[in-house]
Amino acid sequence: MRYYLDYNASAPMDERVKSYVKEIMDMHGNPSSIHTKGRKLKDLLEISRQRIALLTKCNQKNVIFTSGATEANNLALNGYKKKIVSIIEHESIKKQKNTITIDVNKEGYIDLVMLENILQSINKKEGVIVSVMFANNETGIIQPIEKIIKITKIYQVPFHTDAVQAVGRLNINFLKLGIDMMTISSHKIGGPSGAGALIVNSKKHILKPLLLGGDQEDSLRSGTEPLLAIAGFGQAAELLDMKKIEKLKALRMAFEKKLKKAKLGIQIIGENSNRLPNTFLMYTPGIKAEDLLIALDLEGFDVSTGSACSSGKAEPSMVLKRMGYPKKMASGVIRISLGLYNDISEADMLVNALKKILKRFGKI
Ligand code: PMP
Repeated sequence: MRYYLDYNASAPMDERVKSYVKEIMDMHGNPSSIHTKGRKLKDLLEISRQRIALLTKCNQKNVIFTSGATEANNLALNGYKKKIVSIIEHESIKKQKNTITIDVNKEGYIDLVMLENILQSINKKEGVIVSVMFANNETGIIQPIEKIIKITKIYQVPFHTDAVQAVGRLNINFLKLGIDMMTISSHKIGGPSGAGALIVNSKKHILKPLLLGGDQEDSLRSGTEPLLAIAGFGQAAELLDMKKIEKLKALRMAFEKKLKKAKLGIQIIGENSNRLPNTFLMYTPGIKAEDLLIALDLEGFDVSTGSACSSGKAEPSMVLKRMGYPKKMASGVIRISLGLYNDISEADMLVNALKKILKRFGKI
């Protein structure tokens, strides 16, 4: 028996998504073709766009499909000369050229005063953008997005957010919040890998395409659309039931409570911060995260050490270090990210497995 506690890395695909994709597999063609078959596929593409717009409360025509969030993040920032980004962003943002970074505090929130100071001092004629993730993939800590937007509006600088981990777990109203650009990803919400989207409030932003070619997606993302992935993405969005999120939060809290009660010295990072309903990062003293990850794997648990994006690497959590935690702690954290297929019995199993492992390592 295996227990999958790594939804932030990728969420399992719903059976209904799989069967929808299978149906489309039988429809051969290219959505850009003018003939009947092509137009039918184009309709499916547009249905998916509509479903993404409904989920995120944005204008359907402003959803630009990409191959995933990495590409959407790159597309969002590609046309800007200066990128003001938080220090805990995903690599696809952090590795951009010409970035100015904003620190985070021990609670995991970005330093708003620092953001204002940077915006005050910078030459805005240069093409400046601010990019701060909605919620962090490792800690689940949610950024004060409304406050950030308020500041960026005062300084008239566009605001992009990587909402990969937040969408489907928080109610996000793109238009009401006044976000300029937002990135989302299919495989994090139970759709197939290979699709994502950049949502824009207006295509008048400085959007410099990454790919030149057949001018699909309003010339913003050339290349034949990966229809199977995009259709599955839309279907996954359609199936998301935000009413179930409260249940997920209760489950996360029950996990945390049981782990703390086990008297193993476990600490929850950012425990009192505003966090995603499904995610927690736990510190287990006396054992390195990479050893714990392998030991848990042998006990049947799929978990991760912080970010799983640069797969294969079990390095100290960069996010934790940026939050000001010592290296020892950053090297001892495991991320648990839950989803709708988990249940409370898995929390008891996890506690038992941890006790067994720590005993074996001579820690208890
Ligand atoms: N941003 C965040 C916050 C993520 O967690 C991830 C995936 N781990 C990405 C971007 C990249 O997503 P994709 O796999 O769709 O490229």
